Amino acid sequence: MDKLYEGLDEICEEIVEIRRYLHQNPELSFQEENTAKYIAEYHEKLGHEVKTKVGGNGVVAYLKGDKPGPTVAMRADFDALPIKEETDLPFRSQNEGVMHACGHDGHTATLLGLAKVLNRMKEDVQGTVVFIHQHAEEVIPGGAKSMIEAGCLDGVDVIFGTHLQAQVPVGEVNYRVGPLQASADFFDIKIQGKGGHGAYPHQTKDSIVIGSQLVNNLQQIVSRKVDPLESAVVSIGSFEAINANNVIADTAVLKGTVRTFNEEVRDSIEEEIGKVVQNTCQLSGAEGELNYRRGYPSLVTHKDETEFVAELAKDVPGVDVVAESPQVMGGEDYSYYLQHVKGTFFFTGAESPDAEESYPHHHPKFDIDEKALLVAAKVLGAATLKYMEENK
Ligand code: MN
Repeated sequence: MDKLYEGLDEICEEIVEIRRYLHQNPELSFQEENTAKYIAEYHEKLGHEVKTKVGGNGVVAYLKGDKPGPTVAMRADFDALPIKEETDLPFRSQNEGVMHACGHDGHTATLLGLAKVLNRMKEDVQGTVVFIHQHAEEVIPGGAKSMIEAGCLDGVDVIFGTHLQAQVPVGEVNYRVGPLQASADFFDIKIQGKGGHGAYPHQTKDSIVIGSQLVNNLQQIVSRKVDPLESAVVSIGSFEAINANNVIADTAVLKGTVRTFNEEVRDSIEEEIGKVVQNTCQLSGAEGELNYRRGYPSLVTHKDETEFVAELAKDVPGVDVVAESPQVMGGEDYSYYLQHVKGTFFFTGAESPDAEESYPHHHPKFDIDEKALLVAAKVLGAATLKYMEENK
């Protein structure tokens, strides 16, 4: 592995430069055309076979090693967020209102750097490396699903991926066997009551009162319908019914999200929400309309591959701590890859010890410690080479 680690150390400045270039030029989900072009050109210069427009703006590049062996994929996402950057970084976003506030610039720089180093040591690569550069992770339906449908996993034996974590110290790697990230679904409920004069409530069907009951009744799904040993969230994020002081609301709209780690729990919550909406509205003679939209499924890592990465990460230079990750309620469409091929997803700590304050992902002051890029590249690269060695 020394050759890999030394190769990455040698180009660490270039990896940082790539990250800064991408950070300065962020593009929103499904609009990442320039970023995709930049990535494709980088691989083309290395002489890799490159496929563009894979399931959208996705880019897939292939590196054939000098020796035969398995096909190992790695994935990095490259979309940014509709956030106005508030950092003082010299390379802050030049695309007003758009920001790499989730570290996807770092994921992409990591994978490109790794591509360059693995390419230089082709004689040691025993198999094929597939670089999956995925567009649109942040917005449903995401890029993963369509890239898989377009064949990005064809022939792939195993997949590895990581997410930088701005609130985990740099030098720490977190893994978890089984459900790591939650499924993320969204729903809207429209209550059709009967509006009227605020002084004559008996002549109306008050959508605000019914909506309030609905908010309360929905809380009982998690507390009374889900096994307490499972975890789930039903949250209402919006309750809209705007009228004058003396008007009873004709309609009201509730919007919310559901998070689970278990597909059965997910199915049952969707069903329960339907029942609660129907029954609560019926009680008051109103109509309830539920629009439930499924987002990304829960991200479930595979045991052998996760333990394999956790074990080898301990020997990677720059890694001080390898620890089990708690489950995370945020969604991630990497989950689709793991539904098709075995593999794992781990977190790479990216919190700078020098930062006065570390801001969460999706925050206008979000930043990462760039040392994390080298850590991520070394763990991913070591996993790829070691997997090939053990499975040739
Ligand atoms: Mn992200």
